[in-house]
Amino acid sequence: MKSAGTSTDFDPWGVATRIHELSEIGSQEFESANLLKEVLRSNGFTITENFMGIPTAFRAEKLVGKGSHTIAFLAEYDALPGIGHACGHNLIASSAVFSAIRASQKISDGRIVVYGTPDEEGTGEWSGSKIIMADKGAFKDVDLVLGSHPGDEWSVGKQSLAVQDFEITFKGTASHEAANPELGRSALDASILTYTAVNMMRQHVRRNANFVMHGIIKEGGTASNVTPERSVLVYGIRSSDVAYHGELVARFRDIIDGCAKATGTTYQIKNIGPLFSTTKINPTLSNQIREFLLGRGVECLPLEETASRLPGGSTDFANVSQVAPALEVEFQIAPAGTPWHSRESLEAAKTDRARKALEIMIEVLSDTAEKYTEDSEFRKKIKKDF
Ligand SMILES: [Zn+2]
Repeated sequence: MKSAGTSTDFDPWGVATRIHELSEIGSQEFESANLLKEVLRSNGFTITENFMGIPTAFRAEKLVGKGSHTIAFLAEYDALPGIGHACGHNLIASSAVFSAIRASQKISDGRIVVYGTPDEEGTGEWSGSKIIMADKGAFKDVDLVLGSHPGDEWSVGKQSLAVQDFEITFKGTASHEAANPELGRSALDASILTYTAVNMMRQHVRRNANFVMHGIIKEGGTASNVTPERSVLVYGIRSSDVAYHGELVARFRDIIDGCAKATGTTYQIKNIGPLFSTTKINPTLSNQIREFLLGRGVECLPLEETASRLPGGSTDFANVSQVAPALEVEFQIAPAGTPWHSRESLEAAKTDRARKALEIMIEVLSDTAEKYTEDSEFRKKIKKDF
């Protein structure tokens, strides 16, 4: 049997299941990236490896006709540590690569690009690689960005929260807790005080900013009779309003500063990864893709319904939507209400239901690319929405 990707075979499911097996975590997705590059290369795409200095990133391009319009598809292929492809990124990879191949067959004038974007889950060195790419101008010449993500329903425009993660290290002074407590300064006290003060801040924030703050005390000392001289907190701060998010972070930093003073400790704050933005919805694009889905018998939620829901997560795709018209379509591979990043979603990512949804996704995304290259009204409206 031929392995997936070693020929020009159109085998989305072979690629999706192979990446599910490989199960490589963020920033270490070498084999998965190689497989995708091989499939694209054998379908006439030119590959840039090590894209923007990110070892498991790539950029693939195929020119059709004059190449008047540039349409990009974003692939993710990182698994979650310990559990595997429980976020279904194996399907995202296959969807992006085969949508691009299909699009290059359907259009007569365009430049089809695939970006291999590692480490969406934020587990490694290249966490949030789309943000690094967007900040460095990778999407400057792109007219339209299309992506997809498996989930427990079909939707075309979910909002996401801005998030920044932090690691805070407090340094105190070690001392014998019974013999010389007066000489000790507890770093753990600073962490606990911070944790408490942050909880108090929750009450005094704008109610419509969807403020979420989650933290843990990662280190809190080594022995009960030694004043903890080091304590580490890890926090995520989120909001649906990116400007207000900046204010919240400033208040968070003030809290840390105050708690260090109160406990006689010092501190260091380190950003973990880049700032994930909120998603910019493009109604024209969302509604058109929904129409294509309905045409294929898929019951996709109307945009108004998804837009009215509280955003629950964050994604680096959001930062791309801020620099180019973009949409990440959610395709259903599991019953509504299935928990994600779970054993259930891990299994769902390799079922027959997932295979069928993937096939629909590939046709709909490539249809969208085709329409974009052929319909100037559609292009105008998308630009106007952006
Ligand atoms: Zn995901």
